Amino acid sequence: MKYDYELKTPQEGCIDITMQVCEAIAISGVSNGIVVVYCPHTTAGMTINENADPSVVRDVLLGLERAFPDRAEFRHAEGNSAAHLKASSIGSSITAIIEDGRLILGTWQSVYFCEFDGPRSRRFYVKVIEG
Ligand code: ZN
Repeated sequence: MKYDYELKTPQEGCIDITMQVCEAIAISGVSNGIVVVYCPHTTAGMTINENADPSVVRDVLLGLERAFPDRAEFRHAEGNSAAHLKASSIGSSITAIIEDGRLILGTWQSVYFCEFDGPRSRRFYVKVIEG
């Protein structure tokens, strides 16, 4: 079962989409299996990280900014190569385990959609696989 979601993003930021992933799992009726959450964009990505302290998301974004600054020597005409680098560095999907109908995450973990070149209308897909 595949479920499509849309969201409006800020210029840059990590949006907690754990509720949508849990909703898709509930709708699927799958009790035990795997969920894949996929971001079909080249300047946005997907990750799992801490939800307890909002400073973590801020620090991740700051660290990515330091690691991948905009550079004059970039050739990509759209001018958003730094966003492409950030998206590739965190990846475009996450995989997690479903057990007894519940998404298994660590106590402090959430699933995040990460925008690096917004604001935009974005989408992501949730695939639930029984097994
Ligand atoms: Zn581009």
